[in-house]
Amino acid sequence: MKRAEICEALAPLKIVDYPEVPPPPPKGVVVKITYSGVCHSDVHIWEDEMDMGDGVKMKLTAGKFIKFPLAPGHEIAGIIEAVGSEAGSEVKVGDAVVVYPWLACLQCDLCTHGQPNLCLNAVERIGAAKHGGFATHVVVPITSGAVVKIPKGLAPEVACMVPCSGITTYNAVLKTKERVTEMVRMKGNAKLLIIGAGGLGMWCIQFAKALLPPETKVFSADISEEKLQMAKEANADDTILWSKDANEQEILAQTMQRSGGVFDAVIDLVGAGATSQRAFNLTERGGIQVNVGLFGGNMKIPLIVLALHTKCVQGVCVGAPHHLEDCLKLVAEKKLKPPPLEFFTLDQATEALTRLKEGTMKGRGILKL
Ligand SMILES: [Zn+2]
Ligand SMILES: [Zn+2]
Repeated sequence: MKRAEICEALAPLKIVDYPEVPPPPPKGVVVKITYSGVCHSDVHIWEDEMDMGDGVKMKLTAGKFIKFPLAPGHEIAGIIEAVGSEAGSEVKVGDAVVVYPWLACLQCDLCTHGQPNLCLNAVERIGAAKHGGFATHVVVPITSGAVVKIPKGLAPEVACMVPCSGITTYNAVLKTKERVTEMVRMKGNAKLLIIGAGGLGMWCIQFAKALLPPETKVFSADISEEKLQMAKEANADDTILWSKDANEQEILAQTMQRSGGVFDAVIDLVGAGATSQRAFNLTERGGIQVNVGLFGGNMKIPLIVLALHTKCVQGVCVGAPHHLEDCLKLVAEKKLKPPPLEFFTLDQATEALTRLKEGTMKGRGILKL
């Protein structure tokens, strides 16, 4: 078994060869990895830092859930190689699966009722508390809700993205559905703005087109013209280029001119102070802002505006296991297109993280094992 392990923040990952593959836990499985997505959260782990706002940087290894050495990676597709003695018959050796990595304590009410993504005691989180997908094999402690068979016709290199970038954007779109549907009922149409046209943006646009009423106009905004081109290919109804040189008032005015006013829902896939503040200012009265991205920082909410405009600011942390099953089905059935993929070997894990950190990855980086 081979792993690419972070031993020190921002240092090249160490490729370690182990003589043996660990045995499966009694209720779990060992998955031989075929593809493993490279996500921005992996970059945060590698940097060992998160921007908590007001200049406060949090060292991730200062908490108990991330310790180095660690093989990061939580977008995992593979083949079941070994099944534990008490794992039941839900999955068997040879099944092609994806792994739900957002496992937590496995015991509390949230974990046992299908919402482990909300449990704070994340002792089993794969790619964070436990070794993840930057490896030839991964150990999964349970089967139910943690390994899901890949539907027929869905390529594993696409399926591997669904447990993170897939369900996160799927869940974000679902959060806007009630408001958007209500607006369509009242005025015959609705407007959704999706901020960020990278890998997450591609999924988010397609989920919005698949899940929201057809009268919803989906806009994609980004600072990169090239990425907006991808947004058009993913079927965004319109795109808005946010110039780095323009001031905030100009950007707000230009955006509203393009869309014909503020938006019923805004999904911020970047989650930087500047983008989230803009999202708040671009949300219609009664509308919803969904925050997904973890760039970090903070935004100011004038409390009078929040109340008088009856706005909702909603956070989304990935999704629950049932989102993963539904989302895999949707991607397979509707033949949703993945963002452009760029493949790396396990030995190139450091290069993949560096490219993502520098913002030079076009679409999604995938390790091919
Ligand atoms: Zn991720
Ligand atoms: Zn729990």
